Amino acid sequence: MRAFVYNGLPSRVVFGPGAVAQLPAEVARLGAKRVLLLSTPGRAGMVAAVSKNLPIAGVFDKVVMHTPLEAANEARELATKLNADCCVTVGGGSTIGFGKVIALTSGLPVLAVPTTYSGSEMTTIWGMSENNTKKTGRDPKVLPRTVIYDPELTLDLPPAVSAASGMNAIAHCVEALYAHDGNPIISLMAEEGIRALSKALPSIIRNPKDLESRAEALYGAWLAGATISTTSVALHHKLCHVLGGLGLPHAETHAIVLPHAVRYNYDAAREAMARVERAIGAPLAFQAIYELEAKLAIPMKLSEIGMKAADLERAARIATEAPYPNPRKVEYAPVLELLRNAHEGRRPS
Ligand code: NAD
Repeated sequence: MRAFVYNGLPSRVVFGPGAVAQLPAEVARLGAKRVLLLSTPGRAGMVAAVSKNLPIAGVFDKVVMHTPLEAANEARELATKLNADCCVTVGGGSTIGFGKVIALTSGLPVLAVPTTYSGSEMTTIWGMSENNTKKTGRDPKVLPRTVIYDPELTLDLPPAVSAASGMNAIAHCVEALYAHDGNPIISLMAEEGIRALSKALPSIIRNPKDLESRAEALYGAWLAGATISTTSVALHHKLCHVLGGLGLPHAETHAIVLPHAVRYNYDAAREAMARVERAIGAPLAFQAIYELEAKLAIPMKLSEIGMKAADLERAARIATEAPYPNPRKVEYAPVLELLRNAHEGRRPS
């Protein structure tokens, strides 16, 4: 076995149907008496219902995707004005992202109640966007202290959002399996995360109210978040960051690019690919992922989510100028081909 470094991250997880009922006790456990509650505008009703009996100092329900600096500053100022001593986020990666940027400058503890499969609740990664550019960083301060996973809160997550968000989580696991700084413990989590999500997502599409599959998907998302928190990401995430900068939606972009990025790296990361195949239970990791996505009825072409053919060369250039460490050398011509295949949604072969 080769030498490795493993970083365990401290977070408390409360998991299970109905677990959100423990929210007041978990807030008290953090010693918090003045909670700032965060959500998107669309989820405000549900959030009000689950946060009864909390010592709420105020509510910020204007969360939007990609944490724009202006909105982040508004939330930070509110936390200061209210003298909040804890942020409770109820929602997906976007909502957790607001809790994290408040924690980044104030050190306030974050308690996350995730309702999608982004996995952000398990990471020390924060992000903020300004002028169409997303800046990200890692800081232990932003890691939620407590995470309450309640699959009942995800029963209304639309199937298309569930599928794309779940594939985003699978992408975290895949890249952790071939990360240059990976390790056997993270690989266990990554393989199990892919297994759980690839089993749960098709069932969720067939029956979005299937509580058992919802629970399994949340468990997979937890593992996926844990995998990217301590290992580096590679070409796939680099491409998605570049495409995100062009305005493409986060989770869908990950889902579409993943089988093509896996094809790119296939021969250079055979051990990782064998684990992906074992986890999904199908041969050829890139085709296994592509076939899984075909069952989920999500967009399979970058052209379907707003990518213009004219931007492909620019994206390939940006992605190859300052590449992340990757199992296969990152070169312009094959990366452009990868993007063209993803743009047209071709079945990788
Ligand atoms: P999201 O948080 O933007 O949510 C998508 C939509 O679904 C929103 O309108 C939301 O209100 C709605 N929604 C959420 N939960 C719902 C539920 N249970 N039922 C019905 N509707 C619900 O999407 P996301 O994919 O979870 O997060 C994307 C963001 O998270 C991106 O900005 C991405 O960069 C970030 N992210 C960060 C990390 C990290 O480690 N920092 C990891 C993954 C994603």
